[in-house]
Amino acid sequence: MKEERHDIVVVGAGPGGSLTAKTAAEHGLDVLLIERNQEIGVPVKCAEGVSKDIEKFVVPDKKWVSAIVKGANIYSPDGTKVVMAGDKLEEVGYVLERRLFDKFLASEAARAGADIRVKTEAYDVIKENGHVKGVYTHSMGEDRRIFAHVVVGADGVESKVGRWAGIDTRLPPHNISVGAEYLMCNIEPNENFSEFYMGSEVAPKGYVWVFPKGGNCANVGIGIGGDTSGENHRAVDYLNRFVRNKFPDGKIMAEMYGAVPLSGPPDENVADGIILVGDAARQVNPLTGGGILYAMLAGEIAANVIAEAVQGNDFSKRKLSEYDERWKLEFGKRLETGLKAKEFFFDRSDDDLNTLAHSLKGVEIEEMTPWALLMELITQNPKMLVELAKELF
Ligand SMILES: Cc1cc2nc3c(=O)[nH]c(=O)nc-3n(C[C@H](O)[C@H](O)[C@H](O)COP(=O)(O)OP(=O)(O)OC[C@H]3O[C@@H](n4cnc5c(N)ncnc54)[C@H](O)[C@@H]3O)c2cc1C
Repeated sequence: MKEERHDIVVVGAGPGGSLTAKTAAEHGLDVLLIERNQEIGVPVKCAEGVSKDIEKFVVPDKKWVSAIVKGANIYSPDGTKVVMAGDKLEEVGYVLERRLFDKFLASEAARAGADIRVKTEAYDVIKENGHVKGVYTHSMGEDRRIFAHVVVGADGVESKVGRWAGIDTRLPPHNISVGAEYLMCNIEPNENFSEFYMGSEVAPKGYVWVFPKGGNCANVGIGIGGDTSGENHRAVDYLNRFVRNKFPDGKIMAEMYGAVPLSGPPDENVADGIILVGDAARQVNPLTGGGILYAMLAGEIAANVIAEAVQGNDFSKRKLSEYDERWKLEFGKRLETGLKAKEFFFDRSDDDLNTLAHSLKGVEIEEMTPWALLMELITQNPKMLVELAKELF
């Protein structure tokens, strides 16, 4: 079997993997980024919405931005609309074109010096005395042993890299959101607003989203609790019902199915010689299902810790645990609060959701973040949300 050696091998060229590879290469490390698919960014399994915080990482470019978002409308089961809009309707977020965005991020990694290989799948980790020393890969009928000081598992929600290394990344069905989405055209979406629809009839333990994609197109999708899905009431069944009612003349240009981990992260995302990043590390906000920006931030943090590990020639779990400490400091509390908020909202009856929406009638929520919404709900409904309030303050 052919062999090669690098400082770091990153498995998966999503946003988490590419930011890890780019940052590590900027530190001067010898980086290999591998992707099992033949094209980076394809297939898209995402609603593609991100907040303005993306600007902390990249300068938005119209080549990979489909639409600029200025606010969100949330509809309760009885149709009451809650409006969240940025001050004076400035830009508050973007709907991306991930097919191109993911390629852009990978090209930035290449520009920083990382080597990239598509159609290359990791199928196991190399272990010596329990310490991860690299990965076995398969590409065009050829197997390889790729040795590295650190393996980064950025292999998404179905991550196997962590499991191979002995990290428990199992997800019970109630902690998975199962999603279905259509890219629909010939409709008239709200061009600058993301829209969300809630209720047990529309999306049990989840919601429907309509994210504008420019012109007369939008991503129309749904995520429902994995424990609520079954024959004739799968995510796609609810989605079909929704689009029949809401967009009867809409045409489907693309469809996709995918899952989002809503468990909050496991206690440990590292072991000797290995770090997990992004969906593989369950770094997704359980309330919103958003994971793109967390994956990117975690990738940067992981690469910084790995660069220090290379300097000290120490790739032990103890050294790499600094990654867990640092990302938890940066956004661990947000994921924990998101998990509590998800459990609170997804267990509410339709009547409760309507009551909450009514309480916000006439209230201006000027920031389009889940936190701004939670704060306002708690202010208006202190008794109902007392437990959630304890989490936030
Ligand atoms: C229906 C749906 C809607 C979503 N909507 C949003 C949204 O609007 N906003 C948001 O922020 N997030 C959203 N998400 C979540 C978001 O897509 C993820 O959080 C994000 O893509 C995580 O990035 P990542 O780099 O960790 O993983 P991914 O983007 O999943 O990338 C992992 C990569 O690893 C590759 N890979 C896997 N195994 C191997 C292997 N063995 N060898 C080599 N390569 C491998 C895969 O092919 C893939 O390219 C949504 C997810 C779904 C399913």
